[in-house]
Amino acid sequence: MSLFDRVFSGADVMLSVAEDQLATAVNDLGGDAHVTFPNTAYFLSCIYAFLAKEVRTLDDLNEALKAIKELLGREQKLGDAFSNGIATALLAEVIEGVKYAYNPAPYEGTPCHGHMTDAEVRALGVPLVTGDICGVVVLANPAPTVAEAVDLIKDYQRRGVYVFLLGGIIGQAVEAGIQMGVDLRVVPVSNDGWGVAHIISVVARAAMIFGAVKAGDFEAVVDYAFHRVPAFVNAFGPLEDIVVAIGAGAIALGFPVITNETKNVWSVPKSLIVQTDLAKMVDTSLEARNIKVKITNIDIPVSVSSAFEGEIIRKAQVHADIYGARVNAFELVRTKDLHEIEDHAITVDGPDLDAVEVGAFMPIGIIVDIAGKNMQEDFEPVFERKIHQFLNMVEGIMHTGQRDMIRIRISKDAYAAGFRIKHIGEVLYAKLKSDFEAIIDKLQVSIITDPAKLEALRADANKFYDKRDERLASLTDESVDTFYNCILCQSFSPSHVCVVTPERLGLCGAVSWFDGKATYELDPNGPCQPVTKNKLLDERVGSWEDVNEAVKKHSHGALDKVTLYSILVDPMTSCGCFECICGIEPTSNGVVIVNREHSGFTPIGMTFSEMASETGGGVQTPGFMGHGKHFIASKKFLKAEGGIKRIVWMPKALKEMVHDRLNATAKTLYDIDDFCSMIADETIAEEDPSAMMTFLSDKKHPVLEMDPLEY
Ligand code: SF4
Ligand code: ZN
Repeated sequence: MSLFDRVFSGADVMLSVAEDQLATAVNDLGGDAHVTFPNTAYFLSCIYAFLAKEVRTLDDLNEALKAIKELLGREQKLGDAFSNGIATALLAEVIEGVKYAYNPAPYEGTPCHGHMTDAEVRALGVPLVTGDICGVVVLANPAPTVAEAVDLIKDYQRRGVYVFLLGGIIGQAVEAGIQMGVDLRVVPVSNDGWGVAHIISVVARAAMIFGAVKAGDFEAVVDYAFHRVPAFVNAFGPLEDIVVAIGAGAIALGFPVITNETKNVWSVPKSLIVQTDLAKMVDTSLEARNIKVKITNIDIPVSVSSAFEGEIIRKAQVHADIYGARVNAFELVRTKDLHEIEDHAITVDGPDLDAVEVGAFMPIGIIVDIAGKNMQEDFEPVFERKIHQFLNMVEGIMHTGQRDMIRIRISKDAYAAGFRIKHIGEVLYAKLKSDFEAIIDKLQVSIITDPAKLEALRADANKFYDKRDERLASLTDESVDTFYNCILCQSFSPSHVCVVTPERLGLCGAVSWFDGKATYELDPNGPCQPVTKNKLLDERVGSWEDVNEAVKKHSHGALDKVTLYSILVDPMTSCGCFECICGIEPTSNGVVIVNREHSGFTPIGMTFSEMASETGGGVQTPGFMGHGKHFIASKKFLKAEGGIKRIVWMPKALKEMVHDRLNATAKTLYDIDDFCSMIADETIAEEDPSAMMTFLSDKKHPVLEMDPLEY
């Protein structure tokens, strides 16, 4: 049977399953039964993206099925194989849609994840642009042995490749006890082949969310996938025809398929590649998709990869527990002169991990001294925050908090593998030096665990933090003569530009003005460029002629002006990876803010996903604006519309996060006490603005006295 025939036969199998299951479901549930995937604003997003059909019911699904059938052309041509392949993915989505019509959480209680939410898709944005995720692999079917499955998964994970598992390999991973989950970047999607719909759905939504691709623009979805999604497939033989058809769909989207099957399969460069030696599978695959893995060799006994950043170490697994709230524990980066430092000196002063009392808190001080011609004190907090990221990347280490409120957990497994305190220094040395080579000439790490010395050292560290806070507090948009733009997200959101100022960080929450400055220093031709602000146009909305020029240049003409302080007048664009979305709530004349983690409704009658889908892709949408969490307490937040006094609703958890700083800003700017207590949340009102309005008037929320927001 030719490869074409196998694709067609696979598509036919998928079609007959889809038709059968849909007919049974209509019979069981009725044609008007709801069909939805949870927490998405993009319906059944493969069908929506490719065919512009908004599926809400089983009847809608039937209509979609008719349109999909038109893609099943049968002339033995390459184009037909490709359109049959994509149709197979759409048919898979029909089957999965039926599954969710019967049960809104069909994967609950199984190891599988099923549908990815919009928030999960958006969270992929930053790690993809920074290269923390360098590629995405779909491992389909069981590997020849469990051991090979484990090796492949771990190897990809170590190299920073995001792993989706489909079919029998999931059972193998479960059997081997591999830790899986969205946070660990190993996602078991579904035991069924049609689970592939949930993977293609991520691609389809990425195109619409980040790429501003319009639903139904078939070519544009394919083009986006081809150029901007670094994905590929490893499919293990024996391959059923249905997997061959799915593979054709993958290739149509530009994702090479690498397989160990030789029967009736032949290699097509960059598209279909036979690799029978499983030990070479990873290298062959990365090469096929042109993915360069950035590896820093660090001589420590456990793995270091961004995939471990989400790893959680529970109490029972803890060997050493370091907790700044209970014992002296801190981390500090200091700038030194070149002659004061011995490069790569790592010292440990005090007892090591062999001496810890398991269950008791361990004290520690981590001091990183940096010298370099381009080093500046302003970069200290940038590097200090990197300690968090880099230690989290170590397998068996969990790091949270900062300054003298850190918590570090070192697992029993890491200890048993030979991890010791000096390895903390090795990781920080290797990662900081390789990531910031243009700034750091010499770096040394001193780690102190001797409790007798830590009290005084911590007090010293606090003097550094205080000095830094003073600098930060005096740093305003007015006090600097340069902002920075960031275009990192252009790799998937081609016309988006962030303008980062001291009082407004990037919408992803990860790029502050200091980060912008350090990034520019590191790579003067890189993603962050200085933006002057000499030609003020309108102070109220925050617009400058030179800022506009920069935005025009860096968006390649897609935008010609933005304001920095308004949600209504030329607001800043969004790429899609924002931490929060803010939208106007017309009844109160205020705004609601919702963070990505919150899945419920807001009083605008929309969820985060729905509000988020109103903006993105580098397009200006007055009335909606993506932003970082930290921006909420800024004096420049919505300054043009009256500032933070417009905030009427936030999820409780977000309110708690910004509580102290927001209250402080309200007190300073408007002499309002405990402003946060006037802001409604989901315990007061969800979809219903009237409950919120009652609350706002009870609390005498200042928005009630403000002028209406005018579009
Ligand atoms: Fe993307 Fe803006 Fe964050 Fe830069 S600052 S990474 S462009 S969201
Ligand atoms: Zn982004």
